[in-house]
Amino acid sequence: MSFRGFLEKLRSEGKLKVVNQPLSPVYEVSASVGKEPTLFTNVNGGKVVMNILGSRELLAEALGVAQTSIIQHLSSCHTLGEVRVVTDSAAKEVSEKPDLSKLPILTHYEGDGAPYITSGVVVSEYEGVMNASIHRLRVIGKDTLAARLVEFRHTYNLHRKAAEKGEPLPIAIVIGIDLVTLFAISTRVPEGQEFGYAAALKGEPLEVFECTNGVRVPHAEFVLEGYIHPTELVDEGPFVDISGTYDIVRKQPVIHLTNMMHRRDPIYHALMPAANEHNIMMGVPYEPLIFNEVKKVADVKNVVMTPGGCWYFHAAVQIHKKSDEEVKKAIDATFAAHKSLKHVVIVDDDINIFDPGDIEFAIATRVKGDEDIYIYPNVRGSTLDPRSDNGIGTKVGIDATMDLSKRWKFERARRPKVA
Ligand code: MN
Repeated sequence: MSFRGFLEKLRSEGKLKVVNQPLSPVYEVSASVGKEPTLFTNVNGGKVVMNILGSRELLAEALGVAQTSIIQHLSSCHTLGEVRVVTDSAAKEVSEKPDLSKLPILTHYEGDGAPYITSGVVVSEYEGVMNASIHRLRVIGKDTLAARLVEFRHTYNLHRKAAEKGEPLPIAIVIGIDLVTLFAISTRVPEGQEFGYAAALKGEPLEVFECTNGVRVPHAEFVLEGYIHPTELVDEGPFVDISGTYDIVRKQPVIHLTNMMHRRDPIYHALMPAANEHNIMMGVPYEPLIFNEVKKVADVKNVVMTPGGCWYFHAAVQIHKKSDEEVKKAIDATFAAHKSLKHVVIVDDDINIFDPGDIEFAIATRVKGDEDIYIYPNVRGSTLDPRSDNGIGTKVGIDATMDLSKRWKFERARRPKVA
């Protein structure tokens, strides 16, 4: 379903709040947005939509599955789908000289350094290898952006490869794409497979069209074409990211825009940093990756990236335990599947992992601190972890499962049933 198709679906179901009051993109939208899907019709004259993927219910609706089967649906999707190149796209309706001041790009939090594009998918291609991923993009001029490229991730690698030859990396930034594709792109898949994975998740071919600089992109509300300069660096940040704390200022590469296309009356998709929609897109894609990795070593039942862990630093993994040794293996498998993860707790299948209180009950009654806690110091985690030293920090795995030989001590008492 297209981006607009999904908006229309939400509107027809009465789930889309519409705000017609004129608002400034500087603070006013972020101050007034709640948790529900919202269309702001007059942000500096432009349209902004937020929170359309802001809950597990909405994600399930976009994926076309029941909420309870999201993880099964995502973790069983193994083969890549067809990527179909087409010549036409509604994204080409208007083509003009790049001018970011015409877009309703939001400034989100007090102390943020500048307006930031938050839902921009950066599609890049170099020597036949493509990548698509979301990067936060700081507006630094009418046609320039600073891109936060996390070291050794795919866009960074392609940029470095081009830069070593002194070449710019051609890119196109798409904003307002169909939500299943956006979710697929938020998932860490092997190099070059984002579009194939998107098609697989959609259950139909993903259409892409060629920009004037040769980069192929999916249909979108906005397409910003340009290149990442091989050597130019500029201050990026401060910016509130997934943790809800201020990420530091770093020197980051500069994107120069060369062309701007958009639909007529385009709708700009904004993600409120550290809020639900951002959380869903950062966290949920890791659940099937962890599920499939833990499946190799244990009978895994469910995986949840928990809200209190910013949907990014903490995972709860539920297993049906068959031996006491497999818990340590499940911890290692979880960290292998999500490199930015900081803490994982493994629980039995009688624990409701959607309930933080139930997880704490497992920690309270089934953990002995000197035996059940595994500490991994000085390992690579996330640069977004404020307690890390540029991404190097400590990970902790907690075995909050019952000791199999003494199950009777840990099992929850059953209330008698009175007829
Ligand atoms: Mn990639």
